[in-house]
Amino acid sequence: MQETTVFAYRVSLSPTEWAKASDARRAAGDLWTRLVKIHRFCRRRHWRWPTESPLKAHFKRRFPLHSQTIQALIEKFSATIDGVRTKREHGDKQARYPFRRRRYFNPIFKGQALKMEGRHLLLPLGRGRDPIRVHLPEAMPTGTMVQAELGYGAIYLTITREIPEPIPAPSGKAGGLDIGVIHLGMVADGTEALAVSGRGLRSVKQGRAKALAKLQKKRSRTKPGSRRRKRLNRARHRASQKVERITRNALHHAANQIVAFCVVHLITVLYAGDLGTLNYKKRHHRSRRTNQDVGAWEFGRFEAYLAYKLKRHGIPLNLISEAYTSQTCPHCGHLNKVAGRTYRCRACGYQAHRDGVGAVNILNKGMHGEIRPGEFFVPQRITYRRPVPLKRALRRSPAELRHVAGGISGGESGGSLRGSLDPRRSDCGSPRISAL
Ligand SMILES: [Zn+2]
Repeated sequence: MQETTVFAYRVSLSPTEWAKASDARRAAGDLWTRLVKIHRFCRRRHWRWPTESPLKAHFKRRFPLHSQTIQALIEKFSATIDGVRTKREHGDKQARYPFRRRRYFNPIFKGQALKMEGRHLLLPLGRGRDPIRVHLPEAMPTGTMVQAELGYGAIYLTITREIPEPIPAPSGKAGGLDIGVIHLGMVADGTEALAVSGRGLRSVKQGRAKALAKLQKKRSRTKPGSRRRKRLNRARHRASQKVERITRNALHHAANQIVAFCVVHLITVLYAGDLGTLNYKKRHHRSRRTNQDVGAWEFGRFEAYLAYKLKRHGIPLNLISEAYTSQTCPHCGHLNKVAGRTYRCRACGYQAHRDGVGAVNILNKGMHGEIRPGEFFVPQRITYRRPVPLKRALRRSPAELRHVAGGISGGESGGSLRGSLDPRRSDCGSPRISAL
């Protein structure tokens, strides 16, 4: 079975490589901005958005980038336009076409143009220009590199590899998964349940919001282009990058725990609420989770992680509408308003863990197409887990944090660039924001 995964690595570049990378990122930003402007121009006049080929022909050799990079960016832009158009056609009027002018954008390098030279990956910039040399870690996943995207101090490698064919479990048991904030995931199969805590993640998010607000305030008092402004920009970037790494790591670990539960309990199909398509407009009359502080898109990402991890074990993740799954009483079918962590039915007196009710109702709905009262109850035994000991990670000293940050930067593979972390930028993990 083939699997395509994106691996994220932090990279440190020498000053010359850094300059080349910045130029490439700026050129990509220029191209993106041009596309945004052309799109707006067409839209104002109600013209059709051109297909990719005239755009590719037009922008050929106009930017200091490899021809395939230019093509890839045009493809990405067109795909974004298509996605937004589809959303709007389906009634989501909040969906917005790309409108931001981008100073920097991540250039995309296609697999055919990528070359390895020892442990260095060469990112081509087109004829007559030196490629960007990026040092990759020793422990890399084997497989074919189909794409590389260069970020700010990071690289995202899309790798296709052969993985062993999954052996399907003999029983045909189904499981239900409720995704939320207090519990990132609560999975139940009717007799057993596992809850993976999301509290740590939430506190990290709240911490970031505070830190960023503080930085924003300081930033507003500085002059554009000043050294202090730049320093604060960097600090802001570092703070959000750190939260991104912690989040990604926690989501991967939580997903792994849920997958392990499914494998151990011989679950052959897992049902979950369809959260990837949540639209923001409905926010006010939607369920509890959208109004809370972890963005809806993060749940979509969590589901994407789960889907590919489950696929390795031959377990499909079936997404169903989660309407009423948190309110319906599993015992009598009465709709209750839920307050607090415990679900209490006013009609029959049934009491259970709130997220557990969500999980069994999703299971029920997934199997029958509707919630049939009396079919599945919240299991007596619920195992509680944390995705990772987040709090401890945050309390560590900067030196230790460097280690942690390096360790989690490799995404799900656990691969890292620990050895090549740039000492000048190694304070990514430490709470130095206030010192600025
Ligand atoms: Zn009831």
